[in-house]
Amino acid sequence: MLANRIYKLLLILLAVGAIVFAFTPNIGAKMKITCDYCKEEIKGHYLEANGKHYHVAHYLCDECGELLANEKVYLKGGKKYCEKCYNKLFAPKCAYCGRIIEDRSVLYKGMSYHRDCFENHVALKCTLCGEIITGEYLQDFWGNAYHSSHKGEFPQCESCGRFISEEITGGGSRYPDGRHICNLCKSKALTDLDRAGEVFDKVKLQLAGENIRIEDDDIKLHLVDKNQLKEMSGEDSDSQKGYTRYKYTKIGNHQAAKHFDIYVLDAMPEMNFISIAAHELMHVWQHENSPAKNDPAFCEGSCNYASFLVLKHYSGEIAEYLIDNLNRDDDKIYGDGFRRVKKLAEDHGLDYWLRHLKSHKNFPAGY
Ligand SMILES: [Zn+2]
Ligand SMILES: [Zn+2]
Ligand SMILES: [Zn+2]
Ligand SMILES: [Zn+2]
Ligand SMILES: [Zn+2]
Ligand SMILES: [Zn+2]
Repeated sequence: MLANRIYKLLLILLAVGAIVFAFTPNIGAKMKITCDYCKEEIKGHYLEANGKHYHVAHYLCDECGELLANEKVYLKGGKKYCEKCYNKLFAPKCAYCGRIIEDRSVLYKGMSYHRDCFENHVALKCTLCGEIITGEYLQDFWGNAYHSSHKGEFPQCESCGRFISEEITGGGSRYPDGRHICNLCKSKALTDLDRAGEVFDKVKLQLAGENIRIEDDDIKLHLVDKNQLKEMSGEDSDSQKGYTRYKYTKIGNHQAAKHFDIYVLDAMPEMNFISIAAHELMHVWQHENSPAKNDPAFCEGSCNYASFLVLKHYSGEIAEYLIDNLNRDDDKIYGDGFRRVKKLAEDHGLDYWLRHLKSHKNFPAGY
């Protein structure tokens, strides 16, 4: 009956979307009311949830059974819960620490986090300035992420591509020819010609192991800086790292002597040297074995593939970085050429590639 005194003692609307209850003592009701818990008639106070009635003492959390009479009550899916159980079952939890998020959460890639958890453990941070990265960013092979805005602020290492900074490389230096080299790479730099000669001979052996035999002994190795390299090759290219020059001495109509000079950038880490040496040695091989003036992509692609074959012998991350560079090079001749040769060799084997290189100027049809 409406005459009944109805006290709404408590009505709490919670931000999380759970609604609470009306505490409704009902005295002298004429209608017979039954407790949904014990199924006995209720005489006196009762409480109500989801359209059902309860003795005050039977108003319990459907999850843990705790008395709810003086608690916040959360209703969901036809059930009533204490705060603890509701949170345990339904409150948003941090995807990093697994605990309930009571304050505002941070939504990132479809998951919710405590602000602290997000900022300290999840957020992508710029390796250069330490600030959180939102939106587009740059990432290098080594896993460092940067704000795009830093591009151009720091020089990039000629050898490893890292931005040269205290944070990432412990600094670096600039060679007189303008090359920037980071301190990580500089510590591995190959400057000694005798040592370079040893490594060079090892690369020759590794190529021979792939059936790429370079019989010619008259090969002279030179370590040069970038300016000398440009002068030797006559090419003003900053991406150039090596150059092979051929000299033929002719007596009458007969070729009497062949001589090769291989120029490799100096003061680069040994692994870079190995990659360049393999490339240049493959030029020597092609001079000895292939038709003259073959298709540049077939020629340079094959030389890069020789680098790849040698780099595969090494497991360090610099070798992986250099292989990654070969794979991702977007140059039409060097990059596409490499990928086409790689596909050819993978489809038909190294011997097929080398046989084709001996007798053709161009890629086989389909490559
Ligand atoms: Zn009851
Ligand atoms: Zn409970
Ligand atoms: Zn957390
Ligand atoms: Zn930054
Ligand atoms: Zn470096
Ligand atoms: Zn080349």
